[in-house]
Amino acid sequence: MIKVEHLSKKFGDLVVLRDITIEIRKGEVISIIGPSGTGKSTFLRCLNLLDRPSSGSIYIDGIDILDPKADVPKVRQKMNMVFQSFNLFSHLTSLENLTIGQTKLLGMSKKDAKHKSMELLKLVGLAEKADSFPDELSGGQKQRVAIARCLAMDPEIILFDEPTSALDPTMVSEVLSVIRRLAKDGMTMAIVTHEMDFARDVSNRVLYMDEGLIYEEGTPQQIFENPQKERTMAFINRIRSLNYHISSPDYDLYALNAEIEIFCEKQILPRKTRHNVLLLVEEMLQIYNPFLHSTILDMKLAYSEKKESLELVFENTGEAINPLDKKRLPDELGLRIINNLAESIIYQREDNKNRLTLMMRL
Ligand code: ADP
Ligand code: MG
Repeated sequence: MIKVEHLSKKFGDLVVLRDITIEIRKGEVISIIGPSGTGKSTFLRCLNLLDRPSSGSIYIDGIDILDPKADVPKVRQKMNMVFQSFNLFSHLTSLENLTIGQTKLLGMSKKDAKHKSMELLKLVGLAEKADSFPDELSGGQKQRVAIARCLAMDPEIILFDEPTSALDPTMVSEVLSVIRRLAKDGMTMAIVTHEMDFARDVSNRVLYMDEGLIYEEGTPQQIFENPQKERTMAFINRIRSLNYHISSPDYDLYALNAEIEIFCEKQILPRKTRHNVLLLVEEMLQIYNPFLHSTILDMKLAYSEKKESLELVFENTGEAINPLDKKRLPDELGLRIINNLAESIIYQREDNKNRLTLMMRL
C-alpha cells in the first residue's frame, strides 16, 4: 500500500533522515519507537508531505507522491495525521471541526457531513460533546475529537505522532482505547509512541528508529523481548519495567528490595533516587499490609526517560478503596512520607481494580 525507498531529509546541513526504506501493508499497525530527536516526527511529516523529503521516493498504491504533479491535499487526506497537540479549530465546535473538512475538501453536503460526523463522535464516545468547543473539553476528549476528525476524511492510513504525550496520566487510557478499537477494526496505522505496553500489544510490527535510520525492526516480541542490535537493547533495557506480584503478607521483602536495587542500577539512577524508591515502596507496602490477606497486589516500577520520572503503580483487586485515603489512615506519618516522596498520586478504579499511580521526579 505504501512503499518508501531511500528516503532522506535534511534541514540545511542537519541530516535528520538518512536512508529509510520500508513498506507498509494494508491493515498493518506499526509502532515507531526510539529516543527523542531521531527523526520519528520528521518521518511521519515526510510521509504526508508536511515536510518535503530531500531525496528518495514514496509510493501510495503505486502512485509516486513526490511527483511535482501529485495532488498534495489528496495525499494528506489518504494519510491523515493526528498530532500530539490536537490541532483542533478553537472557534469551531467538535461537530464543526469534523464537518468542515468533509464539506470543503470532500465536497459532501452539510447534511451528510453532519450525519457522518455524529456517527464518528459516537464511535469515540463523544456524541454528547458535539456542540462543545475545544476549550470546554479535557485533553483526552480533545484528542478523541481529533481522531474522529481524522477518520472523517476516510483516510487509508492514520499517522499518529505521540498522541498521548500531552495528556495527564489519567487521560492516556481513554485515547489508547480508541486507537485499540481502530486497530481491531482493521485500520492501517503508524504510531509514534512512548507507551511501550501499548506498542507491544496493539502493533504487529515495531520500528526502532535511531539517528535518522530504521535501526531495527521486527515483531513486538522480537523488539521488546529479544532485540538483536546494541542500541535497541540499550533502549529497551532502559524502558523496561520491574513487575512484582504480592499474594500474601509473607512476601519476601528482601528479595523485592534487591530487585528494585538491580532495576535502579540498570537504569543508572542516582543513589538518592534509589534510596527514595526503596523508602517509598516500603511505606506503600506498610499501608497495603492489612489488605494482603484478602487481595492480590501487583506492583510495577517503570522508568520514563521522556518524562524524566519514575512511575510506581500499585493495583489490587477487591472493593473500591483508596488505600491512601486520609480518612482511613491512622498512621499519618507514613502518609506524610509518601506525599513528600511522590510528586503526584492518582487513584483510579477500573476493571474492578484499585490503581494508585505515584510519580517521582528523578
Ligand atoms: P523525534 O520526533 O524523533 O523526536 P524530530 O523528527 O522531531 O525527532 O526531529 C529530529 C531532528 O530534526 C531534531 O534534531 C530536530 O531539531 C530537527 N528538526 C525537526 N524539524 C525541523 C525543522 N523544521 N527545521 C530544522 N530542524 C528540524
Ligand atoms: Mg517527535
